[in-house]
Amino acid sequence: MLQLKGRTAVVTGGSSGIGAACVTLLRENGAIPVSWDLTGLCDIVCDVSDAKSIQSAIEKTTAKFGCPSLLVVCAGIILPGTIRTLDVADWDKVFSVNMRGVMLSVQAVARQMIASETNGSIVLVSSVNGIVADPGISAYSASKAAVIQFSRVAAREFGPCGIRINAVAPGPTDTPMLDPLMKRSGYREELIQRSALGAIGTPKMIAEAVITLMQLEWVTGQTLVVDGGSSLNTGRGNWQAESL
Ligand code: NAD
Repeated sequence: MLQLKGRTAVVTGGSSGIGAACVTLLRENGAIPVSWDLTGLCDIVCDVSDAKSIQSAIEKTTAKFGCPSLLVVCAGIILPGTIRTLDVADWDKVFSVNMRGVMLSVQAVARQMIASETNGSIVLVSSVNGIVADPGISAYSASKAAVIQFSRVAAREFGPCGIRINAVAPGPTDTPMLDPLMKRSGYREELIQRSALGAIGTPKMIAEAVITLMQLEWVTGQTLVVDGGSSLNTGRGNWQAESL
């Protein structure tokens, strides 16, 4: 298992939700987390969709905290809308953060790792929505599917440089991203009922999967679904089992 102690770890989107939980867990394991986020309680203010902002963030990180050997790419947004009604500006905005932001973050950090001959481990936060199909979030879902495929290509490109790259695909997780839906009557109960484990994920549960995957030294290019079994539910009910 890769030891985290003393390693500089960039976490994009580290001010909130899953990213903030990764920052806490990395610190508890002796790593030096460096959060990149738009605002808030982050170490480096950075817009991951902007190439200049990313360049400035990696330079500041390396100067202040040393070359990162770990990266968690968590920054992400969701903008709902059916394909029929979707504003193309919203489509572009989602892809600029969820996919362009992933590519720019990985590119900048991996270049720095290679330049300083540092072996590294990267985990991208995708979503089960990159695998299953829920209506009304096509931009989000397509961007998260793209993240999974990007991680596979990146694993092949960076493997010879000693850099592993994997993804996690969380199911519904109790973070500010889900707040608008959680306010709807019955939504929370339905999520709980659909999960095989009868609960909603917490940011800590996802962070534990991220950090574990990050440490597995013979695993690269893989996506770990972390959803309490919610994506196992086909929505077709239990009638076959009930008839037995
Ligand atoms: P969150 O809203 O709590 O956190 C997202 C963070 O990303 C925020 O701190 C935000 O400021 C930051 N961010 C947004 N745009 C940015 C930009 N351009 N540059 C830098 N930072 C930016 O949400 P979360 O649920 O913790 O989401 C973290 C990741 O997990 C996202 O990629 C999300 O798609 C994914 N995810 C979440 C869930 C869920 O149910 N919450 C499920 C699956 C996947």
